[in-house]
Amino acid sequence: MSSEPDSDKPHPHLTDLKTDKGRLVVDEYLEVPGHPEVFASGDAAAVPDLTRPGEVTPMTAQHAQRQGKQAADNIAASFGTGIPQPYRHEDLGFVVDLGGTQAAANPLHVPLAGLPAKVVTRGYHLLSMPGNRVRTTTAGSTTTWT
Ligand SMILES: Cc1cc2nc3c(=O)[nH]c(=O)nc-3n(C[C@H](O)[C@H](O)[C@H](O)COP(=O)(O)OP(=O)(O)OC[C@H]3O[C@@H](n4cnc5c(N)ncnc54)[C@H](O)[C@@H]3O)c2cc1C
Repeated sequence: MSSEPDSDKPHPHLTDLKTDKGRLVVDEYLEVPGHPEVFASGDAAAVPDLTRPGEVTPMTAQHAQRQGKQAADNIAASFGTGIPQPYRHEDLGFVVDLGGTQAAANPLHVPLAGLPAKVVTRGYHLLSMPGNRVRTTTAGSTTTWT
């Protein structure tokens, strides 16, 4: 939500809206309270985390992707197509590739480090790629494993 790409200046129409640490406050339907015409999701939005009452969802792609889809569905619902649904997603953990054999991962909240974390991290990233051809090419590349 900015007036210029990659700028932190809010759009002039949004300056009077409530923010939480710079993120636009929305309800669990990703709608700005009092402004049914404004939706926000991802890093730009402070979305209530229904799995952790009182908290907002962390700024991760895991949430941003799912919130974007939910926001689109809820916008469609506001025009009469479908029923608005609250955003709810149980965090699945994290994967961090630090290069070489160094990595950290917490798949389904099982803490891993070193090579096991590397295998999980690379496996997850490969599975996230679109299409088997891209996956196979990437998996076969030596740079994938260095
Ligand atoms: C170094 C780094 C590593 C990360 N690693 C992970 C990870 O391993 N796993 C994970 O889940 N998350 C990770 N994240 C977080 C993840 O990247 C973000 O949470 C996610 O990209 C947020 O998605 P978004 O769509 O909300 O915002 P963004 O991805 O930031 O997209 C916003 C887009 O809007 C554009 N934009 C801004 N203003 C305007 C405008 N006025 N008009 C038009 N376009 C505009 C921006 O240019 C940008 O392209 C990482 C982030 C960083 C910085």
